[in-house]
Amino acid sequence: MKGFQYTIHSVLDCETGEEVFAGSFFNQDESAIFEIRRQLEDAIRNRRDPKYKCYYCNQLIKIRGKAENETKLKRMHFAHQWDSDDCPIKTSHKLTQQQIRAIKYNGQKESKLHERTKELVAASLESNRLTNKGITEVATETVRRDTSGLLTWRKPDVSAVYHSRQVVFEIQLSTTFLSVIADREYFYQQNQTFIIWIFKFFSDEFDKQRFTEKDVFYGNNQNAFIFDGEAISESKRQQDLILKCLYREPYRSGQQIAYRWQERSVGLHDLTFDDKNYKVFLFDVEGATNSIRQEIDDEQRAEWERQREIEQRQQVFEQRRQAYEEELEVGLSRARSSVHQTLSEVHAYPERRSPLLNEFAAFSLDTYGNLFTLFGQDQGYQPTEEDKSFLRITFERERLNRSHLDRTDLLTCLCLVTCLIKVKSPQKAHRLKKVYGTVFVLLSVKLDCVVGQSFQKVVQVAHTVFPGKESFAHLFLKAIERYPSPNLQKQDDRSGGKLAKKIEAFRQKNVEPDQSYDDVFRLLFPELFTQ
Ligand SMILES: [Zn+2]
Repeated sequence: MKGFQYTIHSVLDCETGEEVFAGSFFNQDESAIFEIRRQLEDAIRNRRDPKYKCYYCNQLIKIRGKAENETKLKRMHFAHQWDSDDCPIKTSHKLTQQQIRAIKYNGQKESKLHERTKELVAASLESNRLTNKGITEVATETVRRDTSGLLTWRKPDVSAVYHSRQVVFEIQLSTTFLSVIADREYFYQQNQTFIIWIFKFFSDEFDKQRFTEKDVFYGNNQNAFIFDGEAISESKRQQDLILKCLYREPYRSGQQIAYRWQERSVGLHDLTFDDKNYKVFLFDVEGATNSIRQEIDDEQRAEWERQREIEQRQQVFEQRRQAYEEELEVGLSRARSSVHQTLSEVHAYPERRSPLLNEFAAFSLDTYGNLFTLFGQDQGYQPTEEDKSFLRITFERERLNRSHLDRTDLLTCLCLVTCLIKVKSPQKAHRLKKVYGTVFVLLSVKLDCVVGQSFQKVVQVAHTVFPGKESFAHLFLKAIERYPSPNLQKQDDRSGGKLAKKIEAFRQKNVEPDQSYDDVFRLLFPELFTQ
Protein backbone atom coordinates (compact mmCIF):
# COMPACT_ATOMS: atom_id res chain seq x y z
CA MET A 1 0.00 0.00 0.00
CA LYS A 2 3.03 2.23 -0.03
CA GLY A 3 2.68 5.47 -1.88
CA PHE A 4 -1.06 5.23 -2.14
CA GLN A 5 -2.78 8.58 -1.58
CA TYR A 6 -6.12 8.33 0.21
CA THR A 7 -8.68 11.01 -0.51
CA ILE A 8 -9.92 10.65 3.08
CA HIS A 9 -6.72 10.03 4.97
CA SER A 10 -8.31 9.99 8.43
CA VAL A 11 -11.74 9.61 10.01
CA LEU A 12 -13.24 10.21 13.44
CA ASP A 13 -14.02 7.29 15.75
CA CYS A 14 -17.33 8.49 17.22
CA GLU A 15 -17.05 6.25 20.26
CA THR A 16 -13.60 7.19 21.46
CA GLY A 17 -13.01 10.55 19.80
CA GLU A 18 -9.76 9.17 18.33
CA GLU A 19 -8.54 9.95 14.88
CA VAL A 20 -8.28 6.81 12.75
CA PHE A 21 -5.71 6.94 9.97
CA ALA A 22 -6.47 5.22 6.70
CA GLY A 23 -2.88 4.10 6.21
CA SER A 24 -2.72 1.96 9.35
CA PHE A 25 -6.39 1.04 9.35
CA PHE A 26 -6.27 -0.62 5.95
CA ASN A 27 -3.03 -2.32 6.83
CA GLN A 28 -4.67 -4.60 9.41
CA ASP A 29 -6.25 -8.01 8.92
CA GLU A 30 -9.11 -8.09 6.45
CA SER A 31 -11.54 -9.59 8.96
CA ALA A 32 -11.28 -6.47 11.20
CA ILE A 33 -11.74 -4.18 8.20
CA PHE A 34 -14.82 -6.06 7.06
CA GLU A 35 -16.31 -5.99 10.56
CA ILE A 36 -16.07 -2.18 10.59
CA ARG A 37 -17.33 -2.02 7.01
CA ARG A 38 -20.44 -3.90 8.13
CA GLN A 39 -20.91 -1.51 11.08
CA LEU A 40 -20.66 1.50 8.76
CA GLU A 41 -23.26 0.01 6.42
CA ASP A 42 -25.57 -0.63 9.39
CA ALA A 43 -25.26 3.01 10.45
CA ILE A 44 -26.13 4.19 6.95
CA ARG A 45 -29.22 2.01 7.09
CA ASN A 46 -29.95 3.53 10.48
CA ARG A 47 -29.58 0.22 12.30
CA ARG A 48 -26.98 1.52 14.79
CA ASP A 49 -25.13 4.66 15.91
CA PRO A 50 -22.34 5.69 13.59
CA LYS A 51 -18.94 4.15 14.29
CA TYR A 52 -16.87 6.45 12.05
CA LYS A 53 -17.68 9.81 10.51
CA CYS A 54 -15.93 12.19 8.20
CA TYR A 55 -13.79 14.49 10.31
CA TYR A 56 -14.57 17.48 8.13
CA CYS A 57 -18.22 17.37 7.14
CA ASN A 58 -19.52 15.12 9.89
CA GLN A 59 -21.34 12.92 7.37
CA LEU A 60 -21.46 9.17 7.50
CA ILE A 61 -18.82 7.37 5.52
CA LYS A 62 -18.35 3.88 4.14
CA ILE A 63 -15.52 1.57 3.13
CA ARG A 64 -15.21 0.87 -0.56
CA GLY A 65 -12.90 -1.30 -2.60
CA LYS A 66 -11.34 -0.16 -5.82
CA ALA A 67 -10.13 -2.57 -8.41
CA GLU A 68 -6.60 -1.78 -9.44
CA ASN A 69 -6.94 -4.10 -12.40
CA GLU A 70 -8.98 -7.22 -13.10
CA THR A 71 -6.60 -9.74 -11.57
CA LYS A 72 -5.28 -7.88 -8.55
CA LEU A 73 -6.95 -7.49 -5.15
CA LYS A 74 -9.19 -4.56 -4.66
CA ARG A 75 -7.66 -1.61 -2.82
CA MET A 76 -9.93 -0.43 0.01
CA HIS A 77 -10.49 3.14 1.22
CA PHE A 78 -12.91 5.43 3.07
CA ALA A 79 -15.48 7.21 0.95
CA HIS A 80 -18.42 9.53 1.27
CA GLN A 81 -21.79 8.25 0.09
CA TRP A 82 -22.45 8.86 -3.61
CA ASP A 83 -25.22 11.36 -2.81
CA SER A 84 -23.42 13.17 0.06
CA ASP A 85 -23.42 16.94 0.58
CA ASP A 86 -20.31 18.97 -0.11
CA CYS A 87 -17.38 18.23 2.15
CA PRO A 88 -14.48 20.65 2.84
CA ILE A 89 -11.91 18.05 1.89
CA LYS A 90 -13.38 17.84 -1.60
CA THR A 91 -12.77 21.56 -2.00
CA SER A 92 -9.95 21.75 0.51
CA HIS A 93 -7.83 24.06 -1.66
CA LYS A 94 -9.89 26.91 -0.31
CA LEU A 95 -9.29 26.15 3.37
CA THR A 96 -6.23 27.21 5.32
CA GLN A 97 -4.40 24.70 7.51
CA GLN A 98 -5.79 26.50 10.54
CA GLN A 99 -9.34 26.18 9.30
CA ILE A 100 -8.86 22.47 8.65
CA ARG A 101 -7.54 22.00 12.18
CA ALA A 102 -10.44 23.89 13.68
CA ILE A 103 -12.87 21.72 11.76
CA LYS A 104 -11.15 18.57 12.91
CA TYR A 105 -11.10 19.85 16.46
CA ASN A 106 -14.83 20.31 16.40
CA GLY A 107 -15.18 16.96 14.75
CA GLN A 108 -13.86 15.13 17.78
CA LYS A 109 -16.57 16.75 19.84
CA GLU A 110 -19.07 14.67 17.92
CA SER A 111 -17.90 11.52 19.68
CA LYS A 112 -20.04 9.74 22.23
CA LEU A 113 -17.31 9.68 24.84
CA HIS A 114 -16.97 13.41 24.50
CA GLU A 115 -20.72 13.89 24.83
CA ARG A 116 -20.93 11.60 27.88
CA THR A 117 -17.98 13.29 29.59
CA LYS A 118 -19.48 16.70 28.93
CA GLU A 119 -22.78 15.65 30.47
CA LEU A 120 -21.04 14.20 33.54
CA VAL A 121 -19.03 17.39 34.07
CA ALA A 122 -22.16 19.48 33.74
CA ALA A 123 -24.09 17.20 36.11
CA SER A 124 -21.30 17.37 38.71
CA LEU A 125 -21.28 21.17 38.50
CA GLU A 126 -25.04 21.16 38.85
CA SER A 127 -24.65 19.08 42.07
CA ASN A 128 -22.19 21.67 43.30
CA ARG A 129 -24.74 24.39 42.61
CA LEU A 130 -27.56 22.55 44.33
CA THR A 131 -25.45 21.94 47.46
CA ASN A 132 -24.25 25.58 47.55
CA LYS A 133 -20.57 24.97 46.97
CA GLY A 134 -19.98 28.08 44.90
CA ILE A 135 -21.36 27.35 41.43
CA THR A 136 -24.24 29.63 40.54
CA GLU A 137 -24.77 28.86 36.84
CA VAL A 138 -24.10 25.87 34.58
CA ALA A 139 -24.70 25.68 30.86
CA THR A 140 -23.89 23.25 28.08
CA GLU A 141 -24.28 24.04 24.46
CA THR A 142 -24.25 21.72 21.58
CA VAL A 143 -21.51 22.65 19.24
CA ARG A 144 -23.01 24.12 16.16
CA ARG A 145 -21.19 23.45 13.00
CA ASP A 146 -21.00 25.75 10.06
CA THR A 147 -19.11 24.95 6.93
CA SER A 148 -16.15 27.15 7.68
CA GLY A 149 -15.96 25.78 11.21
CA LEU A 150 -14.32 28.95 12.37
CA LEU A 151 -16.77 30.44 14.81
CA THR A 152 -17.54 27.19 16.53
CA TRP A 153 -14.24 27.10 18.44
CA ARG A 154 -15.76 29.49 20.86
CA LYS A 155 -18.53 27.30 22.03
CA PRO A 156 -17.23 25.78 25.23
CA ASP A 157 -18.21 22.28 26.26
CA VAL A 158 -19.48 23.48 29.62
CA SER A 159 -19.56 26.96 31.02
CA ALA A 160 -20.25 27.96 34.59
CA VAL A 161 -20.08 30.78 37.06
CA TYR A 162 -18.09 30.01 40.20
CA HIS A 163 -17.98 32.66 42.94
CA SER A 164 -18.73 35.33 40.30
CA ARG A 165 -15.95 34.07 38.03
CA GLN A 166 -16.66 32.94 34.49
CA VAL A 167 -15.23 29.45 34.01
CA VAL A 168 -15.34 27.23 30.94
CA PHE A 169 -14.51 23.54 30.82
CA GLU A 170 -13.02 22.06 27.67
CA ILE A 171 -12.78 18.33 27.33
CA GLN A 172 -9.75 16.87 25.54
CA LEU A 173 -10.10 13.39 24.18
CA SER A 174 -7.96 13.23 21.11
CA THR A 175 -5.06 14.83 19.39
CA THR A 176 -5.55 18.33 18.31
CA PHE A 177 -3.21 21.18 17.73
CA LEU A 178 -1.59 23.78 19.90
CA SER A 179 -2.83 26.56 17.63
CA VAL A 180 -6.43 25.67 18.42
CA ILE A 181 -5.73 25.55 22.14
CA ALA A 182 -3.75 28.76 22.04
CA ASP A 183 -6.54 30.47 20.09
CA ARG A 184 -9.07 29.38 22.66
CA GLU A 185 -6.95 30.39 25.61
CA TYR A 186 -6.34 33.77 24.09
CA PHE A 187 -10.02 34.24 23.36
CA TYR A 188 -11.12 33.32 26.89
CA GLN A 189 -8.38 35.37 28.49
CA GLN A 190 -9.53 38.38 26.49
CA ASN A 191 -13.02 37.75 27.82
CA GLN A 192 -11.93 37.43 31.48
CA THR A 193 -12.89 33.80 31.48
CA PHE A 194 -11.02 30.97 33.18
CA ILE A 195 -10.50 27.82 31.15
CA ILE A 196 -10.08 24.37 32.66
CA TRP A 197 -8.96 21.64 30.28
CA ILE A 198 -10.21 18.23 31.28
CA PHE A 199 -8.55 15.02 30.18
CA LYS A 200 -10.02 11.56 30.27
CA PHE A 201 -6.61 10.14 30.75
CA PHE A 202 -3.23 11.64 31.35
CA SER A 203 -0.04 9.69 31.43
CA ASP A 204 2.50 10.71 34.03
CA GLU A 205 5.07 8.88 32.00
CA PHE A 206 6.09 11.92 30.13
CA ASP A 207 7.20 10.16 26.96
CA LYS A 208 3.81 8.56 26.53
CA GLN A 209 1.97 11.84 26.59
CA ARG A 210 0.60 13.13 23.40
CA PHE A 211 1.73 16.53 22.25
CA THR A 212 -1.68 18.00 22.93
CA GLU A 213 -1.52 16.98 26.56
CA LYS A 214 1.90 18.55 26.90
CA ASP A 215 0.71 21.73 25.21
CA VAL A 216 -2.13 22.13 27.65
CA PHE A 217 -0.04 20.97 30.55
CA TYR A 218 2.80 23.45 30.04
CA GLY A 219 0.30 26.18 29.22
CA ASN A 220 -1.43 25.62 32.53
CA ASN A 221 1.36 25.95 35.11
CA GLN A 222 2.04 22.21 34.75
CA ASN A 223 -1.25 21.21 36.39
CA ALA A 224 -3.44 18.75 34.51
CA PHE A 225 -7.00 17.82 35.44
CA ILE A 226 -8.29 14.34 34.75
CA PHE A 227 -11.88 13.16 34.87
CA ASP A 228 -11.48 9.41 34.86
CA GLY A 229 -13.66 6.63 36.30
CA GLU A 230 -12.35 7.23 39.80
CA ALA A 231 -13.00 10.98 39.62
CA ILE A 232 -16.50 10.36 38.26
CA SER A 233 -17.51 8.12 41.17
CA GLU A 234 -15.90 10.49 43.67
CA SER A 235 -17.84 13.38 42.09
CA LYS A 236 -21.08 11.47 42.57
CA ARG A 237 -20.23 10.63 46.18
CA GLN A 238 -19.28 14.20 47.10
CA GLN A 239 -22.01 15.88 44.99
CA ASP A 240 -19.40 18.11 43.41
CA LEU A 241 -17.04 18.16 40.46
CA ILE A 242 -14.03 16.22 41.71
CA LEU A 243 -11.04 16.05 39.40
CA LYS A 244 -7.75 14.29 39.68
CA CYS A 245 -5.00 16.88 39.53
CA LEU A 246 -1.60 15.83 38.32
CA TYR A 247 1.29 18.26 38.66
CA ARG A 248 5.05 18.25 38.66
CA GLU A 249 6.34 19.37 42.01
CA PRO A 250 9.76 20.98 41.79
CA TYR A 251 12.42 20.19 44.37
CA ARG A 252 16.02 20.98 44.77
CA SER A 253 18.56 18.36 43.81
CA GLY A 254 21.99 19.82 44.50
CA GLN A 255 22.38 22.85 42.27
CA GLN A 256 19.58 21.73 39.97
CA ILE A 257 15.82 21.68 39.95
CA ALA A 258 14.22 18.25 39.65
CA TYR A 259 10.53 17.36 39.49
CA ARG A 260 8.36 14.62 40.92
CA TRP A 261 4.81 13.80 39.97
CA GLN A 262 2.13 14.49 42.53
CA GLU A 263 -1.49 13.48 42.30
CA ARG A 264 -4.43 14.74 44.34
CA SER A 265 -8.17 14.61 44.18
CA VAL A 266 -9.47 18.16 44.11
CA GLY A 267 -12.67 20.18 44.06
CA LEU A 268 -12.94 23.71 42.71
CA HIS A 269 -12.50 25.07 46.26
CA ASP A 270 -8.96 23.60 46.35
CA LEU A 271 -7.86 25.50 43.26
CA THR A 272 -6.18 28.83 42.77
CA PHE A 273 -7.85 31.13 40.25
CA ASP A 274 -5.10 33.34 38.87
CA ASP A 275 -6.97 36.56 38.10
CA LYS A 276 -4.09 37.94 36.06
CA ASN A 277 -3.51 35.10 33.60
CA TYR A 278 -6.90 33.40 33.88
CA LYS A 279 -5.24 30.10 34.71
CA VAL A 280 -6.56 27.63 37.26
CA PHE A 281 -4.21 25.38 39.17
CA LEU A 282 -3.73 23.48 42.40
CA PHE A 283 0.00 23.92 42.83
CA ASP A 284 1.87 26.95 41.57
CA VAL A 285 4.62 25.01 39.80
CA GLU A 286 6.11 28.07 38.11
CA GLY A 287 6.14 30.05 41.35
CA ALA A 288 7.74 27.19 43.29
CA THR A 289 10.26 26.60 40.50
CA ASN A 290 11.18 30.28 40.46
CA SER A 291 11.72 30.46 44.20
CA ILE A 292 13.98 27.39 44.12
CA ARG A 293 15.87 28.91 41.21
CA GLN A 294 16.16 32.14 43.18
CA GLU A 295 17.50 30.24 46.19
CA ILE A 296 20.10 28.46 44.06
CA ASP A 297 21.07 31.73 42.37
CA ASP A 298 21.38 33.54 45.71
CA GLU A 299 23.55 30.77 47.09
CA GLN A 300 25.75 30.72 44.04
CA ARG A 301 26.12 34.48 44.20
CA ALA A 302 26.97 34.32 47.91
CA GLU A 303 29.46 31.53 47.26
CA TRP A 304 30.98 33.51 44.42
CA GLU A 305 31.32 36.56 46.66
CA ARG A 306 32.80 34.45 49.44
CA GLN A 307 35.37 33.04 47.01
CA ARG A 308 36.19 36.51 45.79
CA GLU A 309 36.65 37.72 49.36
CA ILE A 310 38.98 34.80 50.11
CA GLU A 311 40.96 35.56 46.98
CA GLN A 312 41.20 39.21 47.91
CA ARG A 313 42.32 38.32 51.43
CA GLN A 314 44.91 35.92 50.03
CA GLN A 315 46.06 38.65 47.70
CA VAL A 316 46.45 41.12 50.56
CA PHE A 317 48.23 38.48 52.62
CA GLU A 318 50.51 37.67 49.72
CA GLN A 319 51.26 41.36 49.18
CA ARG A 320 52.09 41.78 52.87
CA ARG A 321 54.26 38.69 52.83
CA GLN A 322 56.14 39.98 49.83
CA ALA A 323 56.47 43.42 51.37
CA TYR A 324 57.76 41.84 54.58
CA GLU A 325 60.26 39.71 52.66
CA GLU A 326 61.44 42.69 50.70
CA GLU A 327 61.76 44.70 53.89
CA LEU A 328 63.62 41.86 55.53
CA GLU A 329 65.93 41.53 52.55
CA VAL A 330 66.63 45.26 52.70
CA GLY A 331 67.30 44.95 56.45
CA LEU A 332 69.63 41.98 56.03
CA SER A 333 71.46 43.73 53.26
CA ARG A 334 71.88 46.87 55.39
CA ALA A 335 73.12 44.67 58.26
CA ARG A 336 75.68 43.01 55.98
CA SER A 337 76.99 46.33 54.74
CA SER A 338 77.24 47.55 58.34
CA VAL A 339 79.18 44.35 59.15
CA HIS A 340 81.48 44.76 56.14
CA GLN A 341 82.18 48.37 56.99
CA THR A 342 83.46 47.28 60.42
CA LEU A 343 85.36 44.31 58.98
CA SER A 344 87.29 46.64 56.69
CA GLU A 345 87.87 49.12 59.56
CA VAL A 346 89.44 46.39 61.68
CA HIS A 347 91.27 45.03 58.59
CA ALA A 348 89.62 41.62 58.92
CA TYR A 349 90.21 40.51 55.33
CA PRO A 350 88.56 37.29 54.17
CA GLU A 351 91.69 35.06 54.36
CA ARG A 352 92.32 35.89 58.03
CA ARG A 353 88.81 36.00 59.47
CA SER A 354 87.88 33.97 62.55
CA PRO A 355 84.86 31.61 62.36
CA LEU A 356 82.85 34.23 64.25
CA LEU A 357 83.71 36.99 61.76
CA ASN A 358 82.96 34.64 58.87
CA GLU A 359 79.57 34.04 60.41
CA PHE A 360 78.85 37.78 60.59
CA ALA A 361 80.29 38.42 57.12
CA ALA A 362 77.56 36.15 55.74
CA PHE A 363 74.90 37.64 58.01
CA SER A 364 71.48 36.03 57.44
CA LEU A 365 68.43 34.70 59.27
CA ASP A 366 70.54 31.62 60.15
CA THR A 367 73.20 33.58 62.01
CA TYR A 368 71.29 33.55 65.29
CA GLY A 369 71.09 29.72 65.46
CA ASN A 370 74.64 29.31 64.12
CA LEU A 371 76.00 31.39 67.00
CA PHE A 372 74.58 28.98 69.59
CA THR A 373 76.15 26.11 67.62
CA LEU A 374 79.53 27.87 67.46
CA PHE A 375 79.61 28.57 71.21
CA GLY A 376 77.91 25.33 72.20
CA GLN A 377 80.48 23.03 70.59
CA ASP A 378 82.48 20.83 73.01
CA GLN A 379 85.63 22.95 73.02
CA GLY A 380 83.59 26.13 73.24
CA TYR A 381 84.68 29.25 71.37
CA GLN A 382 87.48 31.61 72.34
CA PRO A 383 86.97 35.07 70.79
CA THR A 384 90.01 36.77 69.28
CA GLU A 385 91.00 40.37 69.88
CA GLU A 386 89.83 41.16 66.40
CA ASP A 387 86.45 39.57 67.24
CA LYS A 388 86.16 41.79 70.29
CA SER A 389 86.95 45.02 68.40
CA PHE A 390 84.51 44.01 65.67
CA LEU A 391 81.75 43.36 68.21
CA ARG A 392 82.38 46.65 70.04
CA ILE A 393 82.43 48.83 66.92
CA THR A 394 79.48 47.16 65.21
CA PHE A 395 77.44 47.25 68.42
CA GLU A 396 78.00 51.00 68.83
CA ARG A 397 77.07 51.67 65.21
CA GLU A 398 73.95 49.53 65.44
CA ARG A 399 72.78 51.24 68.63
CA LEU A 400 73.03 54.61 66.89
CA ASN A 401 71.70 53.48 63.52
CA ARG A 402 70.01 50.14 63.61
CA SER A 403 70.04 48.32 60.26
CA HIS A 404 66.62 46.71 60.88
CA LEU A 405 64.31 45.58 63.64
CA ASP A 406 63.62 41.89 63.83
CA ARG A 407 63.58 39.09 66.37
CA THR A 408 67.06 37.94 65.24
CA ASP A 409 68.42 41.17 63.77
CA LEU A 410 72.03 42.25 63.83
CA LEU A 411 71.78 44.10 67.17
CA THR A 412 70.19 41.03 68.79
CA CYS A 413 72.91 38.76 67.38
CA LEU A 414 75.61 41.09 68.67
CA CYS A 415 73.98 41.03 72.14
CA LEU A 416 73.77 37.25 71.95
CA VAL A 417 77.48 36.88 71.18
CA THR A 418 78.32 39.19 74.07
CA CYS A 419 76.22 37.00 76.40
CA LEU A 420 77.77 33.79 75.02
CA ILE A 421 81.23 35.21 75.64
CA LYS A 422 80.26 36.25 79.18
CA VAL A 423 78.92 32.80 80.19
CA LYS A 424 82.26 31.32 78.94
CA SER A 425 81.53 27.55 78.87
CA PRO A 426 79.61 25.55 76.28
CA GLN A 427 77.51 24.02 79.08
CA LYS A 428 76.40 27.45 80.18
CA ALA A 429 75.76 28.36 76.52
CA HIS A 430 73.22 25.52 76.43
CA ARG A 431 71.66 26.76 79.69
CA LEU A 432 71.49 30.30 78.29
CA LYS A 433 69.46 28.94 75.38
CA LYS A 434 66.75 27.83 77.86
CA VAL A 435 66.22 31.34 79.24
CA TYR A 436 67.17 33.63 76.37
CA GLY A 437 63.63 35.07 76.35
CA THR A 438 64.12 36.47 79.85
CA VAL A 439 67.69 37.47 79.05
CA PHE A 440 66.45 39.62 76.15
CA VAL A 441 63.77 41.25 78.35
CA LEU A 442 66.47 42.23 80.88
CA LEU A 443 68.75 43.43 78.06
CA SER A 444 65.94 45.48 76.50
CA VAL A 445 65.47 47.25 79.82
CA LYS A 446 69.20 47.69 80.31
CA LEU A 447 69.83 49.04 76.78
CA ASP A 448 66.49 50.89 76.71
CA CYS A 449 65.69 49.45 73.28
CA VAL A 450 64.04 46.34 71.87
CA VAL A 451 66.27 43.25 71.78
CA GLY A 452 65.25 39.76 70.57
CA GLN A 453 61.72 40.75 69.53
CA SER A 454 60.12 42.33 66.48
CA PHE A 455 58.16 44.81 68.64
CA GLN A 456 58.62 48.52 68.16
CA LYS A 457 58.56 49.52 71.84
CA VAL A 458 60.39 48.39 74.95
CA VAL A 459 57.12 48.43 76.90
CA GLN A 460 55.79 45.71 74.57
CA VAL A 461 58.77 43.52 75.50
CA ALA A 462 58.11 44.21 79.20
CA HIS A 463 54.48 43.09 78.82
CA THR A 464 55.66 39.60 77.82
CA VAL A 465 56.69 39.06 81.46
CA PHE A 466 53.12 39.28 82.78
CA PRO A 467 52.03 36.63 82.30
CA GLY A 468 54.56 34.34 80.62
CA LYS A 469 57.73 34.77 82.59
CA GLU A 470 56.35 35.54 86.05
CA SER A 471 58.73 33.15 87.78
CA PHE A 472 61.56 35.40 86.52
CA ALA A 473 59.65 38.64 87.19
CA HIS A 474 61.76 39.30 90.31
CA LEU A 475 64.75 39.80 87.98
CA PHE A 476 62.72 42.12 85.76
CA LEU A 477 61.67 44.22 88.79
CA LYS A 478 65.30 44.43 89.90
CA ALA A 479 66.28 45.45 86.34
CA ILE A 480 63.86 48.39 86.10
CA GLU A 481 65.20 49.53 89.46
CA ARG A 482 68.87 49.18 88.48
CA TYR A 483 68.66 50.35 84.87
CA PRO A 484 66.06 53.11 84.80
CA SER A 485 64.69 52.98 81.25
CA PRO A 486 63.31 56.37 80.10
CA ASN A 487 61.59 54.85 77.04
CA LEU A 488 59.88 52.18 79.09
CA GLN A 489 58.54 54.76 81.55
CA LYS A 490 57.37 57.15 78.80
CA GLN A 491 55.70 54.44 76.77
CA ASP A 492 53.85 53.01 79.76
CA ASP A 493 52.63 56.44 80.83
CA ARG A 494 51.29 57.04 77.33
CA SER A 495 49.27 53.81 77.44
CA GLY A 496 47.71 54.68 80.82
CA GLY A 497 50.12 52.82 83.04
CA LYS A 498 48.97 49.31 82.06
CA LEU A 499 52.39 47.83 82.90
CA ALA A 500 52.50 49.60 86.25
CA LYS A 501 49.11 48.07 87.10
CA LYS A 502 50.30 44.60 86.09
CA ILE A 503 53.38 45.00 88.30
CA GLU A 504 51.21 46.13 91.20
CA ALA A 505 48.93 43.10 90.75
CA PHE A 506 51.94 40.81 90.53
CA ARG A 507 53.35 42.08 93.82
CA GLN A 508 50.13 41.02 95.58
CA LYS A 509 50.45 37.47 94.30
CA ASN A 510 53.63 36.20 96.00
CA VAL A 511 54.90 34.18 93.06
CA GLU A 512 57.70 31.80 93.95
CA PRO A 513 60.86 33.09 92.14
CA ASP A 514 62.69 30.59 89.92
CA GLN A 515 66.36 30.68 90.92
CA SER A 516 67.54 27.62 89.03
CA TYR A 517 69.20 29.70 86.30
CA ASP A 518 70.76 32.23 88.66
CA ASP A 519 74.26 30.96 87.65
CA VAL A 520 73.60 32.23 84.12
CA PHE A 521 71.89 35.49 85.11
CA ARG A 522 74.61 36.24 87.66
CA LEU A 523 77.29 36.07 84.95
CA LEU A 524 75.30 38.30 82.61
CA PHE A 525 73.80 40.80 85.05
CA PRO A 526 75.94 40.81 88.24
CA GLU A 527 74.39 44.19 89.26
CA LEU A 528 71.05 42.47 89.84
CA PHE A 529 72.57 40.24 92.52
CA THR A 530 74.36 42.85 94.66
CA GLN A 531 72.89 43.70 98.11
ZN1 LIG B 1 -16.49 14.76 4.51
